[in-house]
Amino acid sequence: MPAHAYRYPFLDLGRANAPYAESLKQACAEVIDSGRYISGPAVEEFEADLARYCGTSRAVGCGNGLDAIRLIFMAAIELGRMHPGDEVIVPANTYFASLLGVSQAGLRPVPVEPDPATHNIDSRLIEAAVTPRTRAILTVHLYGCPAFDAIMADTAHRHGLMIVEDAAQAIGAATADGRRAGAMGHAAAFSFYPTKNVGALGDAGAVTTSDTVLADTVLALRNYGSRRLYHFDYKGINSRLDPIQAAMLRVKLAHIDDENEGRRALAVVYDRAITNPLIVTPQPGDGRHVYHQYVVRCADGRRDEFRDFMARNGVETAVHYPLPPHRQPCYQELAACRLPIAERLAGEVVSLPVNPHCTTEADAAAIANIINDFR
Ligand SMILES: *Cc1c(COP(=O)(O)O)cnc(C)c1O
Repeated sequence: MPAHAYRYPFLDLGRANAPYAESLKQACAEVIDSGRYISGPAVEEFEADLARYCGTSRAVGCGNGLDAIRLIFMAAIELGRMHPGDEVIVPANTYFASLLGVSQAGLRPVPVEPDPATHNIDSRLIEAAVTPRTRAILTVHLYGCPAFDAIMADTAHRHGLMIVEDAAQAIGAATADGRRAGAMGHAAAFSFYPTKNVGALGDAGAVTTSDTVLADTVLALRNYGSRRLYHFDYKGINSRLDPIQAAMLRVKLAHIDDENEGRRALAVVYDRAITNPLIVTPQPGDGRHVYHQYVVRCADGRRDEFRDFMARNGVETAVHYPLPPHRQPCYQELAACRLPIAERLAGEVVSLPVNPHCTTEADAAAIANIINDFR
């Protein structure tokens, strides 16, 4: 069924951007008039805003979130902090790109089971996955829920591991003591894919870090590995942040706290109003969750039946994600991993509409009532 056929569509990006349309057009017009279409002030201004927002000394724009992950690990290898074939601990329950960014840098992802309460990597299980070749933990703030705690920090410290954040879904999320996504680990990857909490109008991404050596290396690597025109220190990639996207992202970033508050308000309605014992609502953990997705679970093999019921009642839902990375055909090397919790979650999760421009609090209450009628 097409999205417009639903009374409660999952996400309509035109509506999500409508409040900013005039400012976005103005921002594009300024770049067009500037005559500067690669790098330049629009990119640098957005990078400065992003670093300030996250609380890091640096931000480096790039082409997308996948490249942001890959560039961090490529830089760590160029700096001799890791070597090809080294291992990176990753959550088993994540989007495919988290693992792909590690693999593309020449490193080996080692998946670890999630805590079913938060859906994030279970910090208590990281220690047992550490080997002499482990160099980093890639922590993913899945659905906007911060995935960083004292146990993770302690394990990383004792084994000399780098903590890298996949913060693609989590701009504005924070730990209980106020450390924002992007500033929890040594470096972080952001995606500004259009559906993300700060969405570009195309592809875009960034790396944040307070490690200036790492930031300078990422800066070179995103531009073929060049620090000086026509001189190439590394075999880098072409993954620059487009100035038109950067100018629009500056507009969007200025409103992120309001956007996230809108998502959190919808989550509060769902949390309170969903009372069906067949449906498990998410547990936010401590810290500030920014609800990139509001994900409930429906067990006992009834997930598809539940989604069909919702669709018949006008509610469009989604599944993030139906098949974990280690079960994807391209990850044969991980096919033997036994990760029953991640696999069970993949069969139970259902994402509800949570964009504040597409779903009102009254809509969320009505959606909760429909959920409560599922038998
Ligand atoms: C969106 C996303 C990515 C990839 O971002 P792109 O900009 O699409 O490359 C990586 N990790 C997670 C968790 C994501 O949600």
